[in-house]
Amino acid sequence: MNEMELLAQADLRGLRYTETNGQRRVFPSDEAIAALVAFDEPLPDQGLPAEDTLALLDEVGSPATTASNGPRYFGFVIGAALPAAAAAERLISAWDQCASTFDNSPVSATLERVASRWVLDALDLPRDSAVGFGTSATACTLTALAVARRELLARLGWNLDDQGLNGAPEIRVVISELTHITVKKALQVLGFGKHQILQAPVDGQGRIDATLVPPLDERTILCLQAGEVNTGAFDPFEQIIPHAKKAGAWVHVDGAFGLWARASSLVGLTQGIELADSWTTDAHKWLNTPYDCAMTICRNSGALAEAMNSDAAYSSASVDAQKNLTLEFSRRPRGILVWAALRSLGRDGIAELVERHCAQARRIGDGLARAGFEVLNPVILNQVLFRCTTDVQTVAVRTAVQQSGEAWFGGAVWQGRPAMRVSVSSWRTQDADVEALLALLVRIKSATTDVSS
Ligand SMILES: *Cc1c(COP(=O)(O)O)cnc(C)c1O
Repeated sequence: MNEMELLAQADLRGLRYTETNGQRRVFPSDEAIAALVAFDEPLPDQGLPAEDTLALLDEVGSPATTASNGPRYFGFVIGAALPAAAAAERLISAWDQCASTFDNSPVSATLERVASRWVLDALDLPRDSAVGFGTSATACTLTALAVARRELLARLGWNLDDQGLNGAPEIRVVISELTHITVKKALQVLGFGKHQILQAPVDGQGRIDATLVPPLDERTILCLQAGEVNTGAFDPFEQIIPHAKKAGAWVHVDGAFGLWARASSLVGLTQGIELADSWTTDAHKWLNTPYDCAMTICRNSGALAEAMNSDAAYSSASVDAQKNLTLEFSRRPRGILVWAALRSLGRDGIAELVERHCAQARRIGDGLARAGFEVLNPVILNQVLFRCTTDVQTVAVRTAVQQSGEAWFGGAVWQGRPAMRVSVSSWRTQDADVEALLALLVRIKSATTDVSS
């Protein structure tokens, strides 16, 4: 089989997979998982035919996928891939560009520049901010926090590039009690210890209580959150950020999915967020691009470019080259997926996507309450947190849903007790899928009630 035939085969298999997405089990069957042993081969001495490799990947691999690209996956905020973005993904995969600089790939540099401009426009953030397209909110938060520390130290007269961290003035970080685990991971990788990290208490909905924020000064990085993973709650930016800025702190916002509320009629939830210094958001979650695609957005573009500088001339860093705005040096032009998604949705389409998911989440919340579940959050965004009367039943219902193959969502621990969490974030999810989820939950709940009583 020649290269063209092989690639055509791959396209065909991919098309078939996508076509049957809605009929797949949402979580693979035990048999499909058991069949994965077929991959457990020794490294072959001689290379094997490419078409065999493709066939094995599809025949054993495809049945063991999670249908998170389908309509009834409600786990985390995973999102499906929009057709325009999925199509762009296929083409750029044929291009195989190294999108570090204009010289390496003129088309990539050009499109990522357009995508940056559109992102700032859609999210209504300062238009001269720099946008680095990285692999994940985790990596982009790590980037932003590295910039924050370097800048705060520079303002204190400490040159991090020359002097390093040993003996540097101590920088503290204030995070929310409910900060996402990946922000903690980024801090840990950067060398912040628990003693330098203070937690701001949250209210019953998971928002930082503005009256209880630890003291802030010019040695503090404050991490706020747009879209808490359980409740979808937003920290009170308008109350906290002006005060933090006046104290000289650097304000970073983790808006992995929630930042997109800003591109919809829910913009009010993000009031004041534009006053921060840096923001992280994913495209692979609510914007529904394929994995892996996220952004670091930094108000001070020079600060980002200097902290991530990989220009050979050390004294200056071009803010136009993605290699100076992300952790990666060699990288694929993932910003093109953002460009394709934004171009196909338009301003109206982004708003419609976000608003539809929030309306569907409200519908789920109302349906669950009517069916006797305890809904634990006011459904302000796309997240619904709920539980049964007893913890045993909560876990039993969640497990039964996951095993059914008809839908999937994850568990959470909320205020010390098990809970269930539904996220609506796939463009494929129709109201009928929401109704199917509700019907499934009602059926499983009454079955587990019978068993436990
Ligand atoms: C998912 C998520 C992250 C991490 O994003 P990745 O792209 O998975 O690294 C960070 N913060 C919040 C609030 C999230 O929901």
